[in-house]
Amino acid sequence: MAQRNTWQRERVRDALADARGFVSAQSLYAGLREANTGIGLATVYRALAGLAASGEADSLQSPEGEALYRACTTQGHHHHLICRNCGLTVEIEAKDVEQWAQRTAALHGFREAEHVVDIFGLCASCSNLRDSEATG
Ligand SMILES: [Zn+2]
Ligand SMILES: [Zn+2]
Ligand SMILES: [Zn+2]
Repeated sequence: MAQRNTWQRERVRDALADARGFVSAQSLYAGLREANTGIGLATVYRALAGLAASGEADSLQSPEGEALYRACTTQGHHHHLICRNCGLTVEIEAKDVEQWAQRTAALHGFREAEHVVDIFGLCASCSNLRDSEATG
């Protein structure tokens, strides 16, 4: 099935590029609805799946199992550090993870191994905020 480059897809791509970090289809849709774009939720889902399939967006699952998307600036394989509070995302290389994954796959006779490793946590400013709230 040929993927047509519709204006909706461009609009979703723009919204994704403006997002601070990984976002769900739902929250992207909420923003587009506020902007009166007339783009439906199903179209947002389809556009995001298309962008992920063509490598224009990264997708991953949140610890809650929700699909999240981001227009990453790094081409090719990389990992993410994601703040679960504010959504701040840092793209990271993880050479030791690459070596470990290759070694482990080979050890079990696996080839063409791929892996997904993303770290969710609290970013520095969010954890500072939490500390100062805790101390009053
Ligand atoms: Zn990425
Ligand atoms: Zn944060
Ligand atoms: Zn990796």
